[in-house]
Amino acid sequence: MMRSIVAAGLLLAFVSVSCAQNIVVDNTSSGFASRTGIAVPLFLYHGLDSPFGYNSADFEAQMDWLKNNGFNTITLDHYRSWAQTGSPALPPKPIILTFDDNYLSIYTVAFPTLQARGFTGVNYAHTHYVGVMTSYDHADWNECTEMEQAGVIFTESHTVMHYNLTTLSTAAMDTELINSKNAIQANIPGKVCKHLAYPYGGYNATVIARTQAAGYQTATTTLSGVNVRTTPLYELRRYGINPNTAPATFQSSANAGLGSGAWGTSNSEAAPYGTNYATAPAGTGHSQAIWSFTVPANGSYEVSAWWTSHSNRATNAPYTVFHAGGQTTVQVNQQQNGGQWNALGQFTFQTGKTYFVTLNDHANGVVVADAIRVQSLPSAAADWTLYE
Ligand SMILES: [Zn+2]
Repeated sequence: MMRSIVAAGLLLAFVSVSCAQNIVVDNTSSGFASRTGIAVPLFLYHGLDSPFGYNSADFEAQMDWLKNNGFNTITLDHYRSWAQTGSPALPPKPIILTFDDNYLSIYTVAFPTLQARGFTGVNYAHTHYVGVMTSYDHADWNECTEMEQAGVIFTESHTVMHYNLTTLSTAAMDTELINSKNAIQANIPGKVCKHLAYPYGGYNATVIARTQAAGYQTATTTLSGVNVRTTPLYELRRYGINPNTAPATFQSSANAGLGSGAWGTSNSEAAPYGTNYATAPAGTGHSQAIWSFTVPANGSYEVSAWWTSHSNRATNAPYTVFHAGGQTTVQVNQQQNGGQWNALGQFTFQTGKTYFVTLNDHANGVVVADAIRVQSLPSAAADWTLYE
């Protein structure tokens, strides 16, 4: 009887070890991608239901396309931090969804549609009209609070009265900027309002100065185009999307931020993983390599990176691991420890989600993207079984 219990324990231990998964994604694997010229597209929506000619199914189809094609929504706070410091790193295919004028469909259509897909968005509200039913209905403070607390749609300022700010005196401009910010903060518990959309896209140097003085960290325009790290934070560009936007235009607008061109590949240094490795020169964070993977079981994993060393390498190559708890950036010295696995840390991952490790060129030398390894860690129960 004792023997059979021990045997069972050993068997269990053996099974748990044999289940240990080594996932390796090399730069030649299908899970690897690299781009130069990465930028961030912002989309500009208004109402999403019939008064605007929108069928909500059309909006859902657009969001499905983004989801199925690997786009990741980021917040304006994340964007602002990346633009100013290069950190946190951008996920693959970053995009920001914005909705102007706080139409009720932000709550009835955008909120459930984004939430179901794990997306976030920005609701630019003109505060005089919050909860007001005019020819068009507007979401009220309870609805804005619910969306905020769900972590799905964040309400920011579109001024109080929706005047074109360039037509106002400086004092009237300040009233619009400050009172709307205060109203949002007074009506959404814990809220710090930091972002503005200029009504009618109207701005000039005075408007920018007063916006900054009022405590805003970014402002969006109606100018078309993508945003790079040097795009002025008070002149962010947005692609207007409406019911008549053709699918091809929608898709090319989303893809406009991806940049192009794979990193250079080389095998001139010893001990690449596989046949070669990818490289990018020092840059400003616009070039990014991405390793994607899924895990077979929920749990803790050790993530390691493999590179080749040379004296021209960065000593601060920034790897970012996107994991179940958020994202963690680890800077490594690629002048050393090439040709081996180097641990970046231990992280938790869950099944059914695609995770990724990124490496960008915001560094002081050449960065090398070769392979990453994701290795499951034995559970405490399995360790105990080994000593049964
Ligand atoms: Zn507006």
